[in-house]
Amino acid sequence: MKQYSGYLIDLDGTTYYGKRRIPTAELFIQELLARDIPFKFLTNNATRQIHQIQQMLEQDYDLPVKDSHIYTSIIAMVNYLQHHHPDAELFVIGEEPLKTELRQAGFTISQDRSADVVVQALNRQTNYEELAMATQAILNGATFLVTNTDQLIPTADGLYPSSGATTAFLKHATSIEPIVMGKPHAPIIEGALEQLGLPKDEVLMIGDNYQTDIQVGIQNGVDTLLVLTGVTQKEEVPHLPVAPTYVVDNLSQWMDKI
Ligand SMILES: [Mg+2]
Repeated sequence: MKQYSGYLIDLDGTTYYGKRRIPTAELFIQELLARDIPFKFLTNNATRQIHQIQQMLEQDYDLPVKDSHIYTSIIAMVNYLQHHHPDAELFVIGEEPLKTELRQAGFTISQDRSADVVVQALNRQTNYEELAMATQAILNGATFLVTNTDQLIPTADGLYPSSGATTAFLKHATSIEPIVMGKPHAPIIEGALEQLGLPKDEVLMIGDNYQTDIQVGIQNGVDTLLVLTGVTQKEEVPHLPVAPTYVVDNLSQWMDKI
């Protein structure tokens, strides 16, 4: 059995499940912290700043992690823009945490249809006018970047459409395919690996969702551990097109392999 030098770990369904705690996951992460093993939480969620997630993990889940343990599709977006569009003026469809991170990284948000780049995430306050201006910006030649294309968000009031529904709207209107930061796409895992400072063959990606967490590993040459505490069900495992490297019922089964 191979030993890994570092880990990338999904949040919802892996570290907790909605508001429910997963004690085996907490013990696993506490063990990583105690032994100073490098890891990062990897999440597509683009509606919270890193520090808000850090506080939630510390206060609600007994996980005294640092901001540096968290890598989101917002941070992937910032890093991608810094590499590819360092001086770009942005049109942003997104919520305040995304806009704050972009401004703190030095980007100008003009909300003008002549912007160089359209950055799209989930915005639960979006309206037709905003979508129309973004459409015009893309048709005018702006690069179309998306944090994540998640389909649905679970809420107390049932399933709501997520970021990908807005992406579908803009794609349909413009016939332009966006570049996506979040899992299963490359930018989020490349950015996280760069910060982790480890070669990809020494890192294990842990997640509950085959389509995102496991696919991001498979498509980017990182070994994967599917944990059956969330989205992907045990009955599906024999039928998955490409098998994860490992499958466990919960993370207590990985404790002796750290
Ligand atoms: Mg998950």
